[in-house]
Order: sequence, then C-alpha cells, then structure tokens
Amino acid sequence: MRSLIVQDNHLSAETLNLLDLDRQGLETYFSAMGEKSFRASQVVQWLHQKGILDVQQMTNISQALRDRLQSETRVHMPEIVYDATSSDGTRKWVLQLDDGNRVETVYIPEDDRGTLCVSSQVGCALDCSFCSTGRQGFNRNLTTAEIISQVWLATRLIDEEKKPGRKVTNVVLMGMGEPLLNFDNVVRAVHLMMDDFAYGLSKRRVTVSTAGVVPAMDRIGDLLDMRLAVSLHAADDELRNSLVPLNGKYPLRELMAACRRFIDKQNVRSRITFEYVLLDGVNDSDLDAQQLIKLVKGIPALINLIPFNPFTGSGYKTSPRKRVERFYKILADAGLTTVIRRTRGDDIDAACGQLVGQVKDRSRRHRRFEEPRIGMQT
Ligand code: SAH
Repeated sequence: MRSLIVQDNHLSAETLNLLDLDRQGLETYFSAMGEKSFRASQVVQWLHQKGILDVQQMTNISQALRDRLQSETRVHMPEIVYDATSSDGTRKWVLQLDDGNRVETVYIPEDDRGTLCVSSQVGCALDCSFCSTGRQGFNRNLTTAEIISQVWLATRLIDEEKKPGRKVTNVVLMGMGEPLLNFDNVVRAVHLMMDDFAYGLSKRRVTVSTAGVVPAMDRIGDLLDMRLAVSLHAADDELRNSLVPLNGKYPLRELMAACRRFIDKQNVRSRITFEYVLLDGVNDSDLDAQQLIKLVKGIPALINLIPFNPFTGSGYKTSPRKRVERFYKILADAGLTTVIRRTRGDDIDAACGQLVGQVKDRSRRHRRFEEPRIGMQT
C-alpha cells in the first residue's frame, strides 16, 4: 500500500501524535506555543480532509512552524495486516497496533450509504454472553489516534476502489469494545468525525453504541449531538442479567430513564436505536416482543432486530426466519419502527459479534473458556 506510508519522523512513542488531538486539542497546543488558534483548523484539514500526514507538505504553514512540528510531534497510525472483501462487498481490515494487539474495522456498503463499523477498545470487558469479542477478554482502550485512523484509512481505501457511490457516509462505534468505557478518546474521535475540517459527518450519521453505561450516557448527551444505540437484547431484568452482565449494575429501569434523558438533551428531534439480537428460544418469544413494546413506550425508538451470528462454542442458535418475522410483526403492528438487520460479511467473519482481532487478554477471561477444552483433550 504505497500511498499509505506514514511520515513517522523516527520519534519515540511518547512523542505527541497529532492524530490524538481533535481541533480543540490542537488549538490548546498551538496557543501554548504562542501560535494563532486557526492553525488547528489548518492542521486538521491537512491530516484528515486532505489525507496529508507529512507536516512538511502542509504548505500554508510557515517553514519555521513545520520544522517545529516535525521535531516535536509525530503522525502515526496502525498498520493494516489483513484486508478482505466479502462476496456482498463488505470489507474488513485487521489493524496491528504498536503493542502487537489487533483490532478490526468493517465497511458495509448499502444502496444509499456506506457504513464504517469502528472499534473502540482492544477486546471488551463486558462479557456479553452472545458476543465473540467478549470471549477474547480485554486488554486496553484504543487511543484517539487508533480510533480515528480507522476512519482515515477506510475513507482512502474505499475511495481507491473507485466504485460509483462507494463512500464512508456513516460511522458506527459498534466494532470491538464498549465505547462509553473509553469516554475521552471516543469523544475526541467523534469530534473529528463530525468536524467540517475533518470528516464532516452530520450528527445523524455518527452512532455510538452502548451496552448501557448509564452515567456515561448522561455525560455524552451533555457533550455531543449524535445518535445513540443501546444494546438491549432483553426487556426483562432477569433475562438481561444473563445476556448483558452490565445489567446487574445498571438495570432496565435506570437504563430506560437514561435513554429518556438523552433524548431530552438532543437539539434536533432524535431517536434511540435499540439493538436486539434474536437468540433461538432465549429472547425471541411473543411474550418477549410484548415486553419490549411496553419497555420502550414513550421513547422515540428504532428497533434493530439482529439475527444472531453464530461462533464456535457460543451455545446459542440463530432464531428461525419465521420467528424473526413473527417478532418483527408484533413490534411493527404495535407501531414501532422496526428493521431486521441483514447479515453482512459473514463469509469473512466481519458480521456483528464476529470481530475478535487479536487480544492479549489481561482479564484472564479467555482462560475460563479454554480450560474445559484442554481438559477434554487430556
Ligand atoms: N459494546 C457496545 C458496542 C459493541 S456493538 C454495545 O454493546 O453496544 C455490539 C453489537 O453487536 C450488539 O448490539 C449486538 O447487536 C451485536 N452483536 C454482538 N454479538 C453478536 C452476535 N453474535 N450476533 C449478532 N450480533 C451481535
């Protein structure tokens, strides 16, 4: 990938990476050195809009300042170690980070949009029972640079495909990790996604997905206008405790109250996307659908029904198509805006819940899953 060689300036890992800063951060950086704050817009534009990573090519900046940036900062992003395109056009990249961990990014083309699914952490600490990322355990938060690099790289590589209409028009933080547990880095990255000097995506086109970290839902609602997706998966506390362990900490009553507060804070009329993975015989009965209707009553909602994507050892099965359709109909008949998400990219393990990267687990969780298997072999 000749066009993606990054000017690294041979500086150490502690040196400030310009990709870690949003425009506000750059303004602070430039003011501290006595420079005009509009330098920040210029640098953001070079880096993110024009894709120029070599500070010496930033020609509207004085030579003296370019030299200073060159000696004091670096511009560094992860390396692509895997790049595959599915038969349905979905494209998946595996990015290798400096510490050897790997995360995944997925591009999903549709007729009217192109959605980039971005990771926010190496692994995930939440341990949702139906998600393979959780099985990998957790290593660390991604830096702002590592999050926004996914957008930088995908934007350029999709453009290089030169297929009419193919662009990154939407970003969803639905890859590996829980974005609201990596709050500051995610907020900075979202700022860049929505900054007109960077990616210029409108607030309707950036979605942060959470399993329900209630205090952080309040905080992000105070800071940003963007779309919020809540991974619900059950409308009853007992069932949700078994699928999303975080529910023990923030049960449904608190979660739904936080959803209402979030909606009230948004400047434009907005709604929350509720994600619901349908698991055969677990959460897909008529009664489950009726409870869901009751639960979201009064909240402007879009219900996203997701057929479960199986993975080895999950212990769950995908609900039969007829069940999915029946569940859909009960919600739709009650007047809820509901969509059934099409499974995309499963032939390259790029579908929801299949993103595993390569995580040097520090939570020791993966050992819990591996031990019985080792036991069986002996
Ligand atoms: N931690 C955040 C962001 C990760 S996105 C969150 O929980 O929202 C995770 C989404 O991937 C979940 O909403 C779920 O809809 C989906 N998902 C996870 N595992 C899945 C699986 N095996 N099959 C289908 N969807 C899955």
